[in-house]
Amino acid sequence: MKHERYLKTDALVMGSIRLREADRIVTFYTKERGRLSAVAKGVRRTRSRIGGRLEPFSLVHVMLYSGSGSLYTVTGVETIRSFQGMRESLLRMEEGGRLFESLRRLFPEEEESPSSFNLLVRGVGRLSTAEDRPTAAKVVLSTRLKLLMALGYLPELDSCVQCGSDQLLCGFRPSMGGMVCPDCFAEEHYDCFSISANGLTALRDLLESPISDVDRLPLDAAAAAEVERAILRTLAHHGH
Ligand SMILES: [Zn+2]
Repeated sequence: MKHERYLKTDALVMGSIRLREADRIVTFYTKERGRLSAVAKGVRRTRSRIGGRLEPFSLVHVMLYSGSGSLYTVTGVETIRSFQGMRESLLRMEEGGRLFESLRRLFPEEEESPSSFNLLVRGVGRLSTAEDRPTAAKVVLSTRLKLLMALGYLPELDSCVQCGSDQLLCGFRPSMGGMVCPDCFAEEHYDCFSISANGLTALRDLLESPISDVDRLPLDAAAAAEVERAILRTLAHHGH
């Protein structure tokens, strides 16, 4: 793929791995070009100014240079929001990890999606101040569902995706992208699994509520597990 040699973009830092003595390979989710990796040179030196700005979950403005190789090189970083709260809590980091895992599964490298970037920033922003596990879980389930919807993978929760019936829906079929009715559920398709009335309400609420409001939604453990399953099975069907 041919690009201009320099790229300036807002980006969320997804993580990094060590490369050689003082360098790291940093993975970003960028607004302009989606997920990509870049070498950050000298960041492991104690006086590196760039290194301190490349902590996971930070929102940055990054300057990248694209040379002859496949990796970009980081030439400058400015912090927009550090989202420090993310790194102060194990549970926030765990939930944030689920969010990034969904991103990895849904987007190949360098597939741009500015709307997904904005969604992700809102999700991480709310997660960075989540007070407890239930709130963190709701923020992340909601953000992941909205990502699926943005990609067109979760369109139908109001009528059966197979026959169009709008009576009581009781199952979820990832390959068809939504809920099915009892008659279609009884056909026992391999990828179909049951969703309770509570689970369906949770799916709708988490999709429709703004991320800033999801902490007010009721969500019991059983419904949360069903939503998690719907997300994972959809990722398994459509993801990479
Ligand atoms: Zn049906």
